[in-house]
Amino acid sequence: MQDQPFRVIVIGAGPAGLYLARALGAAKIDYVVLERALSTFLERGNHLLLFPHTVRLLHQLGLYDEAKKRSYRLRRKVDITKSGYVLSDYSMWDLLEERHGYPTLPIQRYDVLEMFYKSIPNKEHLIKTGAKVTSINETDQGVEVELEDGTVETGSVVIGADGVHGMTKKYIEEAVSRAATEATDTPRFDIPTTSQYYSIYAEGTNTKKIPSGIFYETRDTGRAIQLGADDDTLRIVLYRKLPQQMAGPVSYTAEQTEEVAEALFDMAVAPGVTLGEIWPDFHKHTARLVNQNEGFTKYWHTDRVVITGDATVCTSSVNGLGVNCGLHSSVALANQLQQAVFSSAGNPSTESLRKAFARYQYIRERELKAIYIQAYSSMRQLTWDSWKDWFIDRFLRRWIGSDFFVRKYLNPLVCKGQILSYVPFEGVAALLPWKWTPEKEL
Ligand SMILES: Cc1cc2nc3c(=O)[nH]c(=O)nc-3n(C[C@H](O)[C@H](O)[C@H](O)COP(=O)(O)OP(=O)(O)OC[C@H]3O[C@@H](n4cnc5c(N)ncnc54)[C@H](O)[C@@H]3O)c2cc1C
Repeated sequence: MQDQPFRVIVIGAGPAGLYLARALGAAKIDYVVLERALSTFLERGNHLLLFPHTVRLLHQLGLYDEAKKRSYRLRRKVDITKSGYVLSDYSMWDLLEERHGYPTLPIQRYDVLEMFYKSIPNKEHLIKTGAKVTSINETDQGVEVELEDGTVETGSVVIGADGVHGMTKKYIEEAVSRAATEATDTPRFDIPTTSQYYSIYAEGTNTKKIPSGIFYETRDTGRAIQLGADDDTLRIVLYRKLPQQMAGPVSYTAEQTEEVAEALFDMAVAPGVTLGEIWPDFHKHTARLVNQNEGFTKYWHTDRVVITGDATVCTSSVNGLGVNCGLHSSVALANQLQQAVFSSAGNPSTESLRKAFARYQYIRERELKAIYIQAYSSMRQLTWDSWKDWFIDRFLRRWIGSDFFVRKYLNPLVCKGQILSYVPFEGVAALLPWKWTPEKEL
């Protein structure tokens, strides 16, 4: 293992893994991405919101125009009750763009993955699909991973971008427990991953001509709907509280998906239109029922193995920040790794890698903890989980005004967004200046 040049093994070709592929390529670090599926961008239906700080990351990689082409313009957020009564109508997305210089882009997960993938030089050799990793082995000199087909890949470090139920975080947890280093570590945020809600996401045709560029959010006890439309297409996420808390991966049938959707048919998706009226317009092959996972991983690394993306923290999709968090973690990790490799002329010691990973966790942990706590409350407030949640959502939030939350949480988050430190870049000028600098990191 020690004789080969520095090489990274990335497990998982989701958004966090494919972004890392681009970032490692830009750092001239050799890598391979191993993905168990035959392709990660065949399925349509799941759409993501890329907030301005993430759009800035795409700009740095030369993907801004392409992302805009695959997206549509969001302008306002309209909060409604299940009868379609408008609680607030707020130019959230216009204001975010005005303040930060970049728009928020609603985009298919499929499109994000395809954009990253297509922009990777030599991808046929660097991204291996149908390559399920079954075990990780780590020594002082390097790492090796075994695949389901019995082949072995060797390298210098493993980055697990293998999602919320991935094997890398389990490997790390076991390795840290074996090393019994816990006593010397500072106390950490540690929330085992569970699901208390499930969701259907789907894409359809906008036959009812729901206005384009508005993000509608419908609230009710134990249920909620988020809907975005452009002139032709509808994208929806339905939320429902699970009968009981669950843990671990679960898959649902098309019949179960239909049943959950039907339980929300009476709810307005926009003033004057109910879910029941537009459900036939959704393409059923894009509709998936999935559990909403919530959890925060305590240990992110060993000496040569580290995690990023949903493997570190998983929030419900209600705030639309999940993939944004994962991409910014991948940036912070790539920055630390590039520095370790560059400053050691391509041969970093085990100790320097461990320190780089510890710095990465330190840089990301505080922000992600705050986002986790915020998303946890937002999910319960949107679905009126208690009298307190109902009061906050129905009255307090309206009284304080929507812009308060954006100024308090979102504007600072966007201003402090990460950027690849080793890729020369000048972003667009903004009313609220970007605050990220390498010196401010630690
Ligand atoms: C309904 C819904 C709506 C959402 N909406 C938003 C939104 O609006 N905005 C937002 O920011 N986020 C949103 N999210 C969250 C977002 O989808 C996730 O945060 C994001 O996909 C996580 O990316 P990742 O790369 O960390 O992990 P994943 O996307 O889970 O990718 C992990 C990859 O690793 C592969 N893998 C796993 N194990 C192995 C193995 N052993 N060997 C090889 N490969 C392996 C998997 O096949 C997969 O391709 C939403 C999620 C849901 C469910």
